[in-house]
Amino acid sequence: MRLMADLHIHSRFSIATSPKLTVPSLDRWARIKGIDLLGTGDCTHPKWLNELAGVLEPEEDGFFRLTKQTQEAFDSIQALADDLPDPTAERSVRFVLTGEISTVYPRGGRTRKVHHLVILPGFPAAKRFQTMLGKIANLSSDGRPTLRIDSRDLLSMLLAADERSILVPAHIWTPWFSVLGARSGFDSIEECYGDLASRVGAIETGLSSNPPMNWALSALDRFAIISNSDAHSPDKLGREATIFTMEPSFTGLADSLSGAAGGPAGSVAETIEFFPQEGKYHYDGHRACGVSLSPAESADLQGLCPVCGKPLTPGVMRRVLELADRPMDEWAPCPPSPLPLPGLSGANRRPYHSLVPLAELLGQLMGVGPGTKKVAAAYAALVEKAGSELALLMDLPIEKIGRLACPGCPGEILAGAIGLMRRGEVSVRPGCDGVYGEVKFTFDIKQVTINQDRYLSAEKL
Ligand SMILES: [Zn+2]
Ligand SMILES: [Zn+2]
Repeated sequence: MRLMADLHIHSRFSIATSPKLTVPSLDRWARIKGIDLLGTGDCTHPKWLNELAGVLEPEEDGFFRLTKQTQEAFDSIQALADDLPDPTAERSVRFVLTGEISTVYPRGGRTRKVHHLVILPGFPAAKRFQTMLGKIANLSSDGRPTLRIDSRDLLSMLLAADERSILVPAHIWTPWFSVLGARSGFDSIEECYGDLASRVGAIETGLSSNPPMNWALSALDRFAIISNSDAHSPDKLGREATIFTMEPSFTGLADSLSGAAGGPAGSVAETIEFFPQEGKYHYDGHRACGVSLSPAESADLQGLCPVCGKPLTPGVMRRVLELADRPMDEWAPCPPSPLPLPGLSGANRRPYHSLVPLAELLGQLMGVGPGTKKVAAAYAALVEKAGSELALLMDLPIEKIGRLACPGCPGEILAGAIGLMRRGEVSVRPGCDGVYGEVKFTFDIKQVTINQDRYLSAEKL
C-alpha cells in the first residue's frame, strides 16, 4: 500500500506553535494536503497524550484514526466557521504516536544539542516513556522537551519503554540542534548513539538538505532517508513528506525505517522536499550584515564575515561538504529505475520531488502574500477540484491544470508554474543564518495564452 506520511509535527503544547493545532484540525488539514499517515507530534506531553487518547481509536496495530463523531463535529462546526477548504478526495487519515525530544549535554568538552524524532507503537508504550522521562524533566512546559541526558541514553530509555519503538535523528544538518550540525553535533551517527547506533535505521533530511546532499556521504548509505514537515501550524503539514510502500501497521513503518532497503513489510518509496536552498541554513551567512555566501566563497574569506569580521553562521552546504567523501550535486536528478540492490552503495537513493507549497506559489503568481484572502480563495477552489494540495502539485496532468477555473489565477499560468517546478526549472536565492531562501518562477506571463471566458467566470465564483 502506498502511504503519504508526515511523521514530524508539533501540537499547540510546543513553544511557538499555532493554537489551532488540535487533533480534528490536524485530521482535516491532512485530508486537504493529501496525507494518509500523520505523526501526532508531542506524545511526551501529558495533556496532549490525554487528548489524543480521548479522540483516537485503534485502526491497524499501532495506527489510530480520529473517531467519526469527532471528525463530523469538527467538519460541521469549526471547519465551516474557519472557512477551511473542503477536500473532495475520500481519504481517511491514520495517526501514529510521535514526538520530538531535544537532548543537551556535554561530551568531549563540547555542548551537544541534538533533536530526535521518536515513534512509539501505542498508548501503553507512550505512557511508560512519559513516566520515565517525567522523572528527569518537566514534560508539561514544552511539547518538545529538553533533556539533560546523552542521546545514547535517550535511545536506551525509549527502547526500555518498548523495544519496538523507533528513533530517527531529526533534521540532521541544522547547525544548532542536530546530530551532524556544525555547532551542535557529531561527525557521525555512530559517534552520537554509540553502542545503540545499530538501532537507528533512518535519518530525516530537514528543510535545508535534500536527498542528493545526503548521498554524498558513504557513511549514510545504510540509512533510509525520510522527510517530514516539522510543522508548527496545521497549514504547513506535508510541506516535506515521505511516500512509503508498506503494510499499514506499526510493523510496516518499523520495517520501512529499519535501513536503506527497508524490510519485508515496507520501505521508503519517494520523498517530497523543499528546494533545499529555501531552507533557513543553506549557505553560510550573517542575517544582520546581509551576507550570504556559498561554501567556496566563504572558504575564500576563512569563514569570516566581510562586513563585521566575525565568524559566519555555517550553512548546511558547508557542513555536508566537510563530511562528504563523494562529489555533491544538490541538483542531482532522481536515481534511475530500477533502484540499486540492497547492500550496494546507493541503496537508499529514491526518487524525490522538489515542491513549493501551493499557497506560496499562488501568492507569487498573484503578486500578493501567501496568507492573504485572495490566495485562500484560490487555494480552496484548487484543492476542491484536484482532491488535495499534493495531488495538484505532483500528480494532476499539466493539461488538466491548464483547464482549471481558479479565481485570481488563470489555470494556464498555474500550469506553467507547476510545470517549471516539476522540472526543477526555478531560480533560487539561498537562505542563510535563519532567513528562508526564495524560489522564483522565471517565466514570461505574457507568453501564456489565457482562456478569458473560463478565467472571468472563475473570478465570479
Ligand atoms: Zn527540531
Ligand atoms: Zn557579519
